[in-house]
Amino acid sequence: MIIDFFTDLVVLFEQFPTLYLVSVFILGLCVGSFLNVVIYRLPIMMQNEWRDDCLEFLEQPADPEKDRFNLTVPRSRCGHCGHKISALENIPILSYLALRGKCAECKTPISIQYPVVELFTALVSLLVGWHFGVSIQALAALVFSWCLIAASGIDVGHKLLPDSITLPLLWLGILLALFNVFVDLETSVIGAICGYLSLWSIFIVFKLITGKEGMGHGDFKLLAMLGAWCGWKMLFVIVLTSSLVGAAVGITMILLKKSERSTQIPFGPYLAAAGWLSLLWGPQILQFYFGLL
Ligand SMILES: [Zn+2]
Repeated sequence: MIIDFFTDLVVLFEQFPTLYLVSVFILGLCVGSFLNVVIYRLPIMMQNEWRDDCLEFLEQPADPEKDRFNLTVPRSRCGHCGHKISALENIPILSYLALRGKCAECKTPISIQYPVVELFTALVSLLVGWHFGVSIQALAALVFSWCLIAASGIDVGHKLLPDSITLPLLWLGILLALFNVFVDLETSVIGAICGYLSLWSIFIVFKLITGKEGMGHGDFKLLAMLGAWCGWKMLFVIVLTSSLVGAAVGITMILLKKSERSTQIPFGPYLAAAGWLSLLWGPQILQFYFGLL
């Protein structure tokens, strides 16, 4: 029954490519709306968990007053007046425009981050759908893109790359390689191993020389995951591209006096962006670098 539905859907999308792209765009908007929830709530859920673990370790009683808090409970509210966001006020982009970016109750401005994440997710999804066409690669790459957007959003806000996003995605990448979806199994496994070990060794050397921690452990796991999806041959492209863009942004920020030289800038979003580009246009980017040499 479900398989029949999907087969029909694939046939329909193959016949009407525009319908396919419009559907992917709308799906992207809806997923983007959910990613906003993940970006906001997942770090709080992680902090609650650490707190509970610490209390348990210290044999302190857990807080009995604490309300349940996860991705679905409680319902979204206005951060200022507590007004519950209705389904009608929750339509991606449109609600923001209709409400003119303000809470329906107290008129407090709603962060521009919400519509931006929705539109960005939709555009990225559209690019993926257009690049891979109606295929299993498109479906996998959509999941990959959405997880990277959520992880990057959290890293920018909290300097955290949640294991609950990177690790399942790492295993999914290896599973896909078992069926040769993007790369073969050997390329994927070597990619995951080299991805982790390369950043880990840089981290150790940097720490021995400067006594400082230049990046977080989340970055090693993220690069391992990207290696599993894109294969070891793309690690060079990913690290070089993310370092170049990261350095350019970092220097610009220092020049504009927006940040101090010692400020830690999260590296995760650059790795994620470079990994995403490599999954779609890896060979072309590699050729471009070789052309420069
Ligand atoms: Zn309000």
